[in-house]
Amino acid sequence: METIYTLKKQDLKPWLESLAQDSDVYVPARDRDNSLVDFFNLSEIKDDLGFGQGQEKRYVLDLVEKTKRSPKQVMYPHWEDLLDFSYEKDPENIEDEKIKLSVSQEAPNSIIFGLKSCDCQAIAKMDAVFGQGIVKDPYYMKRRENTVLISLGCDTVFEDCFCTAVGGSPYGFDHTDLGLMEDGDHYVVFVYTKKGNALAQASNSYLAKADAKDGQDYKSRMQERGRKASEKMSSMWPKTAVEDMAEHLNKAFDASQWKKVSQQCISCGACTFVCPTCYCFDIRDDKDNRQGKRYRCWDFCTSYLYTLEASGHNPREDIQKRYKNKVNCKYNYNFQRQGHLYCVGCGRCVEVCPVDMDIRQIVAAVLKSKQP
Ligand code: SF4
Ligand code: SF4
Repeated sequence: METIYTLKKQDLKPWLESLAQDSDVYVPARDRDNSLVDFFNLSEIKDDLGFGQGQEKRYVLDLVEKTKRSPKQVMYPHWEDLLDFSYEKDPENIEDEKIKLSVSQEAPNSIIFGLKSCDCQAIAKMDAVFGQGIVKDPYYMKRRENTVLISLGCDTVFEDCFCTAVGGSPYGFDHTDLGLMEDGDHYVVFVYTKKGNALAQASNSYLAKADAKDGQDYKSRMQERGRKASEKMSSMWPKTAVEDMAEHLNKAFDASQWKKVSQQCISCGACTFVCPTCYCFDIRDDKDNRQGKRYRCWDFCTSYLYTLEASGHNPREDIQKRYKNKVNCKYNYNFQRQGHLYCVGCGRCVEVCPVDMDIRQIVAAVLKSKQP
């Protein structure tokens, strides 16, 4: 059995502040000025952060709402410099010009606190994208190695949540370092990994070890809480098993429904930018005379420019093809490559879409159109 600790709720603030002395600690908080729940760096907002609803601070810790953006930005920023370059002439030989490179690679120790289990599942998928294969992405991997994940089980299920339909669960702690369950005046802390164990041991002023009997009881209650939260989940998703999705989508590849379901999309990219599992990027150079920067920034496949070729040809010139690709990337192509879906059912894309497109209804409509 995992090692299990308890943490008094009154110790949460000092515990997080003690962790912030050595690491960037990201916490989910509501920014009252912007009516937005997001992950914020504790050190940057700590004087303006309240840990209870009654306090008149700009930010308030929010462990219930899901954050507007996903935590992927901690390890995979929206925009990051990869290297600086400059062209330098050899004074001995004016014809000889060399390119001087200096690589930027910031990877501070980070802790993300208050993750939902869907976001942890998503980080595991990002690990597969950037950390598997012959060439691993050193920028992502360095940050990932230096990041500890602390999750909190979900008891509140929102209208657009569907993690259980895509293989997850509200208390699915399988990809976290520490998993927390709220329990009266304290949190129960389950340790899952070496990183989590090291953090728990270094936090012995705040965490108290549970004995074996209490530990067993906490574990049973955690499973029961997960079961109850799962029962609240919307049934809007088609009743298709995760492992059958790819096959069904292959059969529906030429379905006429694609045109109907995708025509509303305005290619704004909002669904991609909030999605915890979208990983596409563009690499660009910003050059001024003889020096410059190479940077990468997120890209999105519903954009016309995403597949526009230098010749002017675009293999996905209409939104129907682009949206079909997006859905297949999430529920078909990556499943065939890696054996898991690239959607964790967080529902952010449903919430953010300005034209009310709901990926659950779209998949259901397409699959239904091809059923006998
Ligand atoms: S596709 Fe939508 S529901 Fe699925 S992980 Fe991305 S944002 Fe969440
Ligand atoms: S948020 Fe909606 S409109 Fe914007 S790209 Fe995504 S599906 Fe299209």
